[in-house]
Amino acid sequence: MAYELKKVLDEIVSNSFPELRERKIKIEYAQIENAYFGFNGNKKGYELYVDPKMKNVSKNLVLGGIVHELCHIVNEMNLSRYMSRKDRLLYKKNSHYFQLDEKNTDLQAILRGYGKGILALSKLKKRLGGLTTNEVKKLLKK
Ligand SMILES: [Zn+2]
Repeated sequence: MAYELKKVLDEIVSNSFPELRERKIKIEYAQIENAYFGFNGNKKGYELYVDPKMKNVSKNLVLGGIVHELCHIVNEMNLSRYMSRKDRLLYKKNSHYFQLDEKNTDLQAILRGYGKGILALSKLKKRLGGLTTNEVKKLLKK
């Protein structure tokens, strides 16, 4: 059983990302280096990648991963070309910047209403950055 990624993506965008409704976003199962979810592209169009290992995990985890990547995209869309180039460079070269950016992206996803997804994502053993499971739990406490 695998998720129909395009269907999942369209649902997320129409429910929670009004600013992406007119954007071209492709999504497919593909292996990427050091991550289970990723994206590529520019303002003209984006591609999302989901590791094939994510075919048999909970819906929350898939939602969390996709929403996290969409938050990266929205963040980048809001930067000028100069700033987005700088942002990508720092993200690659500075591990502290990377960590803070990953945590901030998780926060954005929680703000969009996908706390359970980020909680599931935080439990992935090989995840390199982002909020810890404890941090997410504290944020989701009412
Ligand atoms: Zn990320």
